[in-house]
Amino acid sequence: MAEPLFTDLPRDLPSFLERFGTDAQCRAHLVRARWPESFRCAECGHDRAWSHKKRLIEECRACGKQHSILAGTIFEQTKTGLARWFLAIYLVTSSKGGISALELQRQMGFGSYGTAWTWLHKIRRAMIRPGREPLADRIEADETLVGGTRPGKRGRGAEGKTVVAGAVEAERGQTRGRRLGRLRLQAVPDATKASLEGFLEANVAKPATVTTDGLASYRGLPEAGYVHEPINLTRSWGEASQRLPAIHLVFGLVKRWLLGTHHGAVSAKHLQAYLDEHVFRFNRRTARSPAHRFARLVQHAVQTKPTTYRQIVHGAPA
Ligand SMILES: [Zn+2]
Repeated sequence: MAEPLFTDLPRDLPSFLERFGTDAQCRAHLVRARWPESFRCAECGHDRAWSHKKRLIEECRACGKQHSILAGTIFEQTKTGLARWFLAIYLVTSSKGGISALELQRQMGFGSYGTAWTWLHKIRRAMIRPGREPLADRIEADETLVGGTRPGKRGRGAEGKTVVAGAVEAERGQTRGRRLGRLRLQAVPDATKASLEGFLEANVAKPATVTTDGLASYRGLPEAGYVHEPINLTRSWGEASQRLPAIHLVFGLVKRWLLGTHHGAVSAKHLQAYLDEHVFRFNRRTARSPAHRFARLVQHAVQTKPTTYRQIVHGAPA
């Protein structure tokens, strides 16, 4: 993927507003994001366009075909000014731990909580990079239980909790220095072989070396094409956190984040969207500046298919 379109990233809110404070500025940026080389007419291949004055359309100067700037992006159908969207994305990506819907409502001056909630979910949809590369080399994988307010029965699949499968790139023994690579998290129906192996197949390249505990669900990994390094341990957390330190560090971070920023108020239906946001932040934790996350997200946003309010409410997969 091409580098972000900015070389001079906004450093703070004033420089952000200087750069993206108006709809026209945001529009110009989206045009560049959609046609990074230069405008190219899908109809005739011509490379020059008129910018429509009122509508968000670029019109081919040769054949007159109209190209919507927003069609096929998360901004499609938006009736709100682009500058408002850019500001919301800036607020979400510039705060270290992200912000809650309530906080977004307050900062954007939205009339309703529902609007802020929907915007946040639309923005989260753009957090998965289209066509991202699978994890590789050395992986630690495990699963954990997230959420649930009822004190359910202990163990896997306890009442009201969701099984979350995780995998992180980690050199053995380097966790103290926190030299972890990229992360993937997926809410799965259960801790069966089908779910956990399925998660790894979808997210980890072969033949990576995968370290897990001794759970039977992972025993098919060699047959699936991985180098499997199972660790024999009793399934007490204390020991697991020492023997699989990287993924347990990650699980601790995501649970703290859900409790902190979102007060644990995340339903099972929407958990994946929050996991996606956490992964987006984790995988860009060493980015040179928060604005780097902003630039990435806008870039993803123009490549991310729009979702309807209905799809979001029902937690349809991205
Ligand atoms: Zn044309």
